[in-house]
Amino acid sequence: MQQSDSLDVARIREDFPILQREFDGQQVVYLDNGATSQKPNQVIDAIADYYRNYNANVHRGIHQLSQEASIAYEEAHDTVAEFVGADGREEMIFTKNTTEAENLVAYAWGLNELGPGDEIVLTEMEHHASLVTWQQIGEKTGADVKYIPVTEDGYLDMDAAAEMITDDTEMVSVLHVSNTLGTVNPVSELADLAHDHDSYIFVDGAQSVPNRPVDVKDIDADFYAFSAHKMVGPTGVGGLYGKREILEAMEPFQYGGDMIKKVTFDEAKWNDLPWKFEAGTPVIAQGIGFAEAVEYLEDVGMDAIRRHEETLAEYALDRMAEFDDIEIYGPTDPTDRGGLVAFNLDGVHAHDLASIMNDHAVAIRAGDHCTQPLHDKLGVAASARASFYLYNTTDEIDELMDAIDSARQLFA
Ligand code: PLP
Repeated sequence: MQQSDSLDVARIREDFPILQREFDGQQVVYLDNGATSQKPNQVIDAIADYYRNYNANVHRGIHQLSQEASIAYEEAHDTVAEFVGADGREEMIFTKNTTEAENLVAYAWGLNELGPGDEIVLTEMEHHASLVTWQQIGEKTGADVKYIPVTEDGYLDMDAAAEMITDDTEMVSVLHVSNTLGTVNPVSELADLAHDHDSYIFVDGAQSVPNRPVDVKDIDADFYAFSAHKMVGPTGVGGLYGKREILEAMEPFQYGGDMIKKVTFDEAKWNDLPWKFEAGTPVIAQGIGFAEAVEYLEDVGMDAIRRHEETLAEYALDRMAEFDDIEIYGPTDPTDRGGLVAFNLDGVHAHDLASIMNDHAVAIRAGDHCTQPLHDKLGVAASARASFYLYNTTDEIDELMDAIDSARQLFA
């Protein structure tokens, strides 16, 4: 096993039981982390412990179990808030995932604040989670949607961005790390541009928070969203950071129990942050698992994880560059990208490639990665994507390359 300079990968792998799975005697090589990550025993155990030992609804009971569950759930907000540099639990809403965080802001803020003449600025590399959501808000409110172009080499055209973000701009929504090109976008610079024009900026951190240290205050994001399941946590929960004063001024997203303080037959008064945005029974078990995932990543060290990802991305890019029948998308400099590589093999459809990989127990993603407009721009319907995480090794990338070679032989 190839060890990274910065991580004890062999030790880390022992925490992830699924990595021991074999298909026809071949151990799984899991390179689909951009879609979802695997879970360590610590996270699985924390969720089981909640269900086994203190399962109860939160904020509703005065009995001991409810108190224990409430404390754990509330403290989970503190843990996740601190992880991204937010100012306490008031600035950290638990959503279902990044997609729901986008919808929360789009509905609760966008529908109420936007109108004809306003502009929403996205990028051509946006995930559908943001692109479709803001497109719909544009349609419903009459606001225009504009897209910052992507250059030939996979970066945002920042000159165009400076021209497109104007006093008409009300919202800039941009992903931090592209899930297709791997590009790490200059989100602080974009936040400055947005704020120079009194606009808000929403940063989609689905592919950044799992892999690199993120400080929402350093970036000066107004909103910042991410999904637990991509960062060794459970499905069904995500984090939405919002600046406290903005969240306080915003209307709720959904109505019902838990998000109110006082209700009469005539009106309701909203609960304090973050509960105002968490209507109904919230994601208790998932939230507790989310905090455990964050603690796991903190123990390993986010700087070390980022370095490991860069090492793997560089290795994969170097290995792929040996072949002129492989087209790689996104920046060639590994320090400008996250730990994923989208590519195509000449003459082999990405779906066929993924299927042949599956015969070798190598799990990758094939398709449009929820970036259809970007794929249109790249001139392809689909691409294959290998995405790495803290438990992956360069040996596994060699297995990926061997599987690519099998596909090459088969289609020759
Ligand atoms: N944004 C980016 C950049 C992503 O890669 C993804 C998922 O792949 C999402 C948003 C949506 O995440 P989720 O499906 O967890 O809401």
